[in-house]
Amino acid sequence: MDQRILLSPPHMGSLEREYVEEAFRTNWIAPLGPNVDQFERELAEHVGSRGAVALSSGTAAIHMALRLLGVERGDRVFVSTLTFIASVNPILYEGGEPVFIDSDRDSWNMSPAALQRAFEDAQRIGRLPKAVIVVNLYGQSADMDAINEICSRYDIPVIEDAAESLGATYKGRASGTLSKFGIYSFNGNKIITTSGGGMLVSDDLEALGKARFYATQAREQALHYEHTEVGFNYRMSNILAGVGRGQLKVLEERVNARRAVFERYAHALTKFDGVEMMPEADFGRANRWLTTLTLKPDVTGLTPTELIERLSKANIEARPVWKPMHMQPLLQQYAYYPHQDGESVSESLFQQGLCLPSGSSLTIAEQDRVIEVIQESLYQTTRRMSHESA
Ligand SMILES: *Cc1c(COP(=O)(O)O)cnc(C)c1O
Repeated sequence: MDQRILLSPPHMGSLEREYVEEAFRTNWIAPLGPNVDQFERELAEHVGSRGAVALSSGTAAIHMALRLLGVERGDRVFVSTLTFIASVNPILYEGGEPVFIDSDRDSWNMSPAALQRAFEDAQRIGRLPKAVIVVNLYGQSADMDAINEICSRYDIPVIEDAAESLGATYKGRASGTLSKFGIYSFNGNKIITTSGGGMLVSDDLEALGKARFYATQAREQALHYEHTEVGFNYRMSNILAGVGRGQLKVLEERVNARRAVFERYAHALTKFDGVEMMPEADFGRANRWLTTLTLKPDVTGLTPTELIERLSKANIEARPVWKPMHMQPLLQQYAYYPHQDGESVSESLFQQGLCLPSGSSLTIAEQDRVIEVIQESLYQTTRRMSHESA
């Protein structure tokens, strides 16, 4: 049997080991240390933000951002519905109430139209949110100008969940730097990885200082251990930051490799009616973290679930598009604003979408294996469909 092709496996460069060995050589194994400071500086410089705080995960970074914005029990937070649960869990940690906002068709990200309606309703009932979390899905920025404009009209700060979009741009600026706070993830499946880790970025250095404080058990400046606030153990270790420094050096290569993977899939698959790639909105450059496409089953005769099963039989990992948060059993009691009355974009993307193996280390031969299974499946089903209609 052919070796399994994974959705998005880690892809190490050549420098990670040196930074990690340096940490061993100096016995700097403890959390914090020179790699952490350097990784923060290098990442901030790379994306063009004034500062950065390295944390144990992207989820921790979102949690810290919500704390810094004062989200407390009963506070509402508007958040993209089409995302991974990690965008929402930190709201629940603080006892907050998520309100889910649908996607638009151009970017698959937060619909400004739905956001506007959510704000109008919130204003009317006197329950404006404390913060808005905008997710940049599958490596593409949301329409940040439109979203920031609405949020600033109501004077509500924005957190950009750029866990999937490090290396992408919006109107020439780095995704994750267009709002008050941005967060990145270095989980094992992301475009660059520290095996596990995250980063909080902002131009507000005072806020970042507070994040460092909260993430280090909220330990006050004193010789003994002094505490006046609740803290967390959320810092990144010096060893993992060494991996991150090496990975950051190859970020641009990784983006180019993933974009090339996307282009090859698009070239081979869009000649089939009913197959559409995730669009790239004209306001930016996506990092194409995962190649994602939709199938119109009434045209292709094939549902995403069926195709994922066929790929799986050929030892290839593929996945459906994220199941929207407002459809999750955990979260069904919270409000949801679709793109338009009667048009829920995220639900149709969930029904029609799937993600293909997209790793930057994917070989041409591996990609050809994926393409072959998909083409064969589509030839079979479209032929069957044309027989049936004849
Ligand atoms: C991966 C991811 C996160 C969480 O990052 P972790 O580092 O795994 O905690 C948050 N949001 C989105 C959209 C993600 O894909």
